Amino acid sequence: MIQSAYERGAQLGQFIGGAIRDGRGVPYDVIDPATEAVLATVRGASEADVAEALAGAEAGMREWRALSPQQRYRVLLRSAEELRARSAEIARTLSMEQGKTLAEALAEVEGSAETFEFFAAEVLRINGSILPARTAGAWQTVTMRPIGVAACFTPWNFPLLLSARKVAPALAAGCACVLKPAEETIGAPLAMAECLAAAGVPAGAISVLHGDAPRISAEMIAARAVGVVTFTGSTGIGRIVARTAAEALKPCVLELGGHAPVVVLDDVDVEAAATAAVLGKTRNAGQVCTSPTRFFVARPVYNDFVEAFGAKLGAVRIGRGIAEGSQMGALANARRLAAAESLVEDATARGARLVTGGTREGNQGFLFRPTLLADVPADARVLQEEPFCPIALAMPYDSVDEAVARANAVDVGLAGYVMGRDFARAQAVAQRLEVGQVAINNFAVSHVEAPFGGLKESGYGFECSSEAVRTFMSRQYIHHVAA
Ligand code: NAD
Repeated sequence: MIQSAYERGAQLGQFIGGAIRDGRGVPYDVIDPATEAVLATVRGASEADVAEALAGAEAGMREWRALSPQQRYRVLLRSAEELRARSAEIARTLSMEQGKTLAEALAEVEGSAETFEFFAAEVLRINGSILPARTAGAWQTVTMRPIGVAACFTPWNFPLLLSARKVAPALAAGCACVLKPAEETIGAPLAMAECLAAAGVPAGAISVLHGDAPRISAEMIAARAVGVVTFTGSTGIGRIVARTAAEALKPCVLELGGHAPVVVLDDVDVEAAATAAVLGKTRNAGQVCTSPTRFFVARPVYNDFVEAFGAKLGAVRIGRGIAEGSQMGALANARRLAAAESLVEDATARGARLVTGGTREGNQGFLFRPTLLADVPADARVLQEEPFCPIALAMPYDSVDEAVARANAVDVGLAGYVMGRDFARAQAVAQRLEVGQVAINNFAVSHVEAPFGGLKESGYGFECSSEAVRTFMSRQYIHHVAA
C-alpha cells in the first residue's frame, strides 16, 4: 500500500534551495487530528532560513522569468503531471495531517493539478500592447512584467489547493514564490514544492517556510524582493497581514472568512435540496469559507426541510479520514472542536432547537457530529461568528425580502446559495445577495476558471480566472523616440 510522508518517516522540514532540509528554528509537533497522535516533530524556519529562502527567491526568479513563455508553460504542465503521479501518496499525507477523507484529499490533489494546467495555458496569453504613436516614428509600448517575489500565506483547510491557487498564477506571471502554509498541514505543500522542482521550476523560485508564523510572515512581507502579498485565512490574521503589507507598501490580496446564507424558496424540491445540503455542509467537515451555514427556509416548507436535512445529516458516517467508509473526517485542530462545542452551547442556551448532532464523537481526536440547529434566535453567537465546522442553522421566513435582508445582515460576503425550481425567481434572489459568488441548486461556488473573492470583511482582490495572473504583474510603459 502507498504510504504517506508521515508513515514513510520522510523528511519534513523547510523547502529551501530546491530541496527539503531541516529548519534551524524551534521544533514543533504535527498532530493527526483524528487520533491526536504526533505524526512528526519538525523544526521551524529560523531568521537565517527565511533570509536564505528570500535570497534564493531573487536568484530563482531571475532564472525563471528568463525562460520563454513556452518553456514556463511546459514546466507548469509537468508540475500537474508530477502531482497526479504522486496523488495517492500526497492525498494520504493530506488526509492524515488535516483530517479530511481520502476521497476529499484525492479530489484536492486533482483540483490542484487542474489549477497548474489552467495557469500553464495562461502563460501563453500574457500580452502587452503597442499604443498609437503621438509623434511620427515614436514607439509607445506597454509590457507586462513579474511584480517581484510573491509572499503566499495559506490555511490548513485546503493546504494543497489554496497553495496551488497562489503559486500557479504567480509562477505563470514569472514570479518566484515563498509559501508559508499553516503549521498543522505542511506535508502536502512540501510535496507540491517537490513536484514543482521535479518538473523544472528552478531552485529558489519556490520555497516553503513554516514555524513561528507571526515572525516569518513579518520577515517575508518586509523583504525588499517581495513585490506582492497574498493571504487566505481568518479575518483576524488577515487584518494583521494587511497592516504589515500596507506599512511595507506592498499590494495585497485577502481571501478571508464567510458565513454563507442559503435561501430556500417555497417551490424547492425538499428531498433533493436536503441531500445536496448535507454534501455541501459536511464537505471538509464544514471547514470551508464558502460552507452553507445559515438556511433561511420559506415557512410552508420549513418543517419538511428541517426534518429531511436533520435525518440525512444524522446518518453521515464520521471517522478517521484514511479509514474505509468515512464520509466526514475530523476537525483540523482542537481550536475548532472547542469553538463547535461553545457555539452549540450558546445557541441552545438562547433557545435554538438541537435537531441532530451537537456533540463530539468519542473522546480522542477532534471528531464532531454533523449538527443542525433549528429556530435559531437572532442573538445566538453562531449567527454572526463563522462556525467553520459542520454546524447548519435553520430559520423560517415569511417573505423573500425578509430572507434576503437577513442573509445580508452579516459583516462578511463571500458565498451564498439559493434553492428553488423557478429559474427567474432563483436568479433574482441570487443577484440580491451581497456576496462574491452564488450557487443555485448546488453548492459548488468555486472553479479555477471563474474569479473567486469576497465583499465586506471577506477580503479584497480575487483569485482564479485568467485575470488572476495580473495580480502578480506590473506594467512598464516605454516611450521611445528616435535619437
Ligand atoms: P487563526 O486565525 O489564529 O490562524 C492561525 C493561522 O494563521 C496559522 O496557520 C498561522 O500559521 C497563521 N498566522 C498566524 N499569525 C500570522 C501572521 N502574523 N501572518 C501570517 N499568518 C499568520 O486561527 P485558525 O484556528 O487557524 O482559524 C480561525 C478561523 O479562521 C476559522 O474559524 C475560520 O473562520 C477562519 N479560516 C478561514 C479560512 C479560509 O479559507 N478563508 C481558512 C482557515 C481558517
